[in-house]
Amino acid sequence: MSVLVVGSTALDSIKTPKAENPRLLGGSASHAAVASSFFAPTRLVGVVGKDFPGRYVKLYEKHGIDLAGLQIQDGKTFHWSGEYELNMNNRRTLLTELGVFETFTPHLPERHKSSPYVLLANIAPGLQHHVLDQVNKPKFVVADTMDLWLNIALKDLLSLLKRVDLFVLNDSESHQLTEEDNVFAALRKIQKLGPKYVIIKKGSHGAILSSPKGYFICPAYPLHKVVDPTGAGDSFVGGLIGYLAKAGGSVDKNIRKAMVYGSVVASFCCEGFGLKTTTRVTRNKIEARFKELAQLTAF
Ligand code: AMP
Repeated sequence: MSVLVVGSTALDSIKTPKAENPRLLGGSASHAAVASSFFAPTRLVGVVGKDFPGRYVKLYEKHGIDLAGLQIQDGKTFHWSGEYELNMNNRRTLLTELGVFETFTPHLPERHKSSPYVLLANIAPGLQHHVLDQVNKPKFVVADTMDLWLNIALKDLLSLLKRVDLFVLNDSESHQLTEEDNVFAALRKIQKLGPKYVIIKKGSHGAILSSPKGYFICPAYPLHKVVDPTGAGDSFVGGLIGYLAKAGGSVDKNIRKAMVYGSVVASFCCEGFGLKTTTRVTRNKIEARFKELAQLTAF
């Protein structure tokens, strides 16, 4: 079953203590769609400008991603730039140039409207609503967000939470939303806002799910070296929904495995700049890390 991904399609300029890389393929939807494509047919909805390099389009195509919903408009592609501290959990945004994103209105091609699995990757909550308005009775809807929308579009975000099955956010965003330090109390508070399933991501410390069947604590893969964590959260959620779509059937039955697959794809993402490593990964490599994580957490 197919996955529809909407979010940002960007050029990312990333600076770490060791290196600097300009204008890489990035954006929440790019990371999430590539991650999902390892498991299920994936449709991308986004916008780029005329400056978007053809080789990046080829990368999407290499992963079999359906690009019918990718608009190419006059103007510049969304450009984001960020800098990491020595502790890679800390990042600051240096620059956000909206370009064609400023006037973006997502239009779903006819065949996308029946997508059973929908991932509203990080993008303005108003646009996430707009996409959801166009989909016919999806089976499972996941939404991600970022601190910016909690600051400037909280009302839209809160109404979105009533329309999604799973909401994914990171630790600091959950503090901001709930004013709650305890992660389990925060999960419960967010569930009361609407979503049946909530996941709080904790970077290199994994992710925690609260579901109707209880909690699940998903580890991060133990990497010895992180090159660039940009997009790890998007890769996590993309891998997760891709696996749910592939498995079909009961979400309660599959969501733990889906999180572990998400964690594995996120680990590859961190090993290279932008999407460099993720786009070279094979299903065999994913399965090998999945088995390692199973062994690491068995007792
Ligand atoms: P993450 O590392 O999971 O937080 O995701 C990083 C990605 O988010 C980068 O590829 C950026 O292009 C993208 N991004 C940064 N700012 C925004 C924004 N305001 N809206 C949508 N996507 C963004």
